Amino acid sequence: MTTLWFEQALLPTGWRSQVRFHIEAGRFTRIEVDAAPDAGEQRHGSVLPGMPNLHSHAFQRLMAGMAETRSGPDGDDFWSWRDLMYRLVGAITPDDLTAIAAMAFVEMLESGFTRSGEFHYLHHQPTGEAYDDPAEMAFALAVAASQTDIALTLLPVFYAHGGFGGTPPGDGQHRFLTDLDGFARLYERTLQAAATLPDAIVGIAPHSLRAVSPAELLALTMMTKGPIHIHIAEQMKEVRDCLAWSGRRPVEWLLDHAAVDPRWCLVHATHITDAECRAIAARGAVVGLCPVTEANLGDGIFPAASFLAADGRFGIGTDSNVRIDLAEELRTLEYSQRLVRQQRTVLADTIRSNGRTLFDAALEGGRCALADGPALEVGDAADLVELAPAVAAAGDSALDRWIFATGRVRGVWRAGVQVVAEGRHRNRDAIAARFDAVAHRLLVEQR
Ligand SMILES: [Zn+2]
Repeated sequence: MTTLWFEQALLPTGWRSQVRFHIEAGRFTRIEVDAAPDAGEQRHGSVLPGMPNLHSHAFQRLMAGMAETRSGPDGDDFWSWRDLMYRLVGAITPDDLTAIAAMAFVEMLESGFTRSGEFHYLHHQPTGEAYDDPAEMAFALAVAASQTDIALTLLPVFYAHGGFGGTPPGDGQHRFLTDLDGFARLYERTLQAAATLPDAIVGIAPHSLRAVSPAELLALTMMTKGPIHIHIAEQMKEVRDCLAWSGRRPVEWLLDHAAVDPRWCLVHATHITDAECRAIAARGAVVGLCPVTEANLGDGIFPAASFLAADGRFGIGTDSNVRIDLAEELRTLEYSQRLVRQQRTVLADTIRSNGRTLFDAALEGGRCALADGPALEVGDAADLVELAPAVAAAGDSALDRWIFATGRVRGVWRAGVQVVAEGRHRNRDAIAARFDAVAHRLLVEQR
């Protein structure tokens, strides 16, 4: 049994002072408040529950910052970025994936994420043939998770078509493709990959309405009782193509044809109408916002103020992992709204500060989307994030100063074990060295 003492902690009941957590076998067994520190007891500062990262493609960390050169007179967009991504990832082996994902997971933990939702579609060999073990690459992700101690929600992706109406897949998509039978085998083995970790969860991810037929979508939703994640309405081209195919916008179509409920995470949902905002909120589905990637890819701006006004739920993801920084994701979400509305503190409610409103919402939505229970309660995994100290950072001000000013995390505990101290993961050096070697081979030698 271990104990950890903090000056203040953000519990489900709000900020409480002088909090001592009792931890056994990685879980909270007792939480004391207003508990003066014992003589000689180590004293920590402000602590938050660990945040779920509800949408990541860990392998894309390899190409972070590699797509910032203009490729032609018309400029670049999501689709030209995707072509580059397909080229760069073509050669990634299972060992490479472990090295790349471990680097991403280290950076997630260092920024305050304690669980990653891996929207995982890099299934097959570069030729497109399945590995002998269909979940070889899911096992590679599980190894990276165990090297870093991050919690994992594995979301194996079903990807069968290149566009709406079952158009054939394109070059570069061979490593992703399965039919329903192949996916069933992949899913069963993914459950076994998850079972190698202490608290992994498995769901299913139909890639997008482009990649999945209506009949396949129905079959997939029957295969799991876990979370269901789907990319949707990220790009205006997708909205136009969906209208041409079905006469409905992507979110309209999905809500009409699938039993969307709180198990569902609608990733991006960037281009939605006010009516779609209200309809998603009414179903209780979580919208998976990835503000830094959405900015990097030029996706557009999610109508967050309208969505929150409709009592919509959201969580935060790092998606392409071009940057891995929880505070920056929350700040970018708020700043995008300020720039559009020419106002400040757009997403704050009238009771809580801006940082507190953003954090509470992302925590609740993220944990729902990754099928994790409520945070910082007895029985829950002891996942804690201590903020770097800042002057006058008591209560919600600690969150505001972190999100809008310092961005720095000091300590992270995963299942009761300290994995980040003074902002650095305990295995950072070895993992960064392996990542650098893989990146050099894939980005320099093989180009
Ligand atoms: Zn994505």
